[in-house]
Amino acid sequence: MTNTQMLRDRFAVVGNPIGHSLSPTIHSAFAQQTNQAIDYQAVLVAVDDFEQWVQQFFDEGGHGLNVTLPFKTRAFTLADQATPRAQAAGAANFLMRDEAGSIIADNTDGKGLVTDMTVNADWPLRDTRILLLGAGGAVRGVIPALLAEAPHCVFVANRTPDRAQQLAQAWTSDAIPVSGGGYHEVPTEAWDVIINGTSTGLSNEMPALPESMAFSPLCRAYDMAYGRAPTPFMAWASARGVAEVLDGLGMLVEQAAESFFLWRGEYPETTSVVSSLRAASGG
Ligand code: NDP
Repeated sequence: MTNTQMLRDRFAVVGNPIGHSLSPTIHSAFAQQTNQAIDYQAVLVAVDDFEQWVQQFFDEGGHGLNVTLPFKTRAFTLADQATPRAQAAGAANFLMRDEAGSIIADNTDGKGLVTDMTVNADWPLRDTRILLLGAGGAVRGVIPALLAEAPHCVFVANRTPDRAQQLAQAWTSDAIPVSGGGYHEVPTEAWDVIINGTSTGLSNEMPALPESMAFSPLCRAYDMAYGRAPTPFMAWASARGVAEVLDGLGMLVEQAAESFFLWRGEYPETTSVVSSLRAASGG
């Protein structure tokens, strides 16, 4: 091992599965851009071993972790402290150890999604009617950031309706009504923004949305999933004449940029990283 490798701060993204992760490529691009030496690995952790693995990583001097499916709720639970946005989500995609040795949980997914939609894509969210599909860790993570953009209303639709209803009850307010239910209960009003936060893309499927759905003339569709080809949800939205359709690659890079900033104190430039990832995937 060279001196440079010995001095590198250790980071990782942990999940199960993890083989698809672009996070090591993204973080090494950020490190190169900001002249920092870091060691960032993708690690497959057995479902039963997560808490023990995290503890050992930090005990052995690891600096920070990103956490992905299916561990985000457990990452939040195991932490000694959580930031307000992780508490709001009840899920964490970010862990670090502070100087006193406490494990701190944060959630950068909401910041990543909203930055990609509002800054990179220039999609306005204020006063829009948002249909949010899914009620898992990713959706819980992004709801606070979406509501901070002051949409007109949000409907959360999920295969298991109870989970959507519980989420809606937790977030609804006089200022911004949030309701929830199954896909067959999606109101027939004209949606301005439809966000797919389900994991259906991983199995090349899409949520069972009703045929009766209506779209506003400027309706935009965002899939948090990403890959070489458009997801079934993106194809579905394009076929219905939705004005703009985006995948979640920009969200991935933006949530990583926020993580990098929290760990390293420098905010990396993201546009060139998204472009080079798209070029590498042939997109
Ligand atoms: P979870 O496992 O926590 O939640 C999965 C969600 O998908 C649940 O709402 C589940 O419904 C739903 N679902 C799963 N299979 C089906 C199906 N066959 N039909 C309908 N609904 C289904 O996953 P996450 O929330 O962590 O991740 C969701 C997606 O978001 C993934 O594709 C992930 O890659 C992506 N993501 C992207 C990020 C990015 O940076 N671009 C960041 C975070 C996530 P039910 O409750 O009924 O089980």
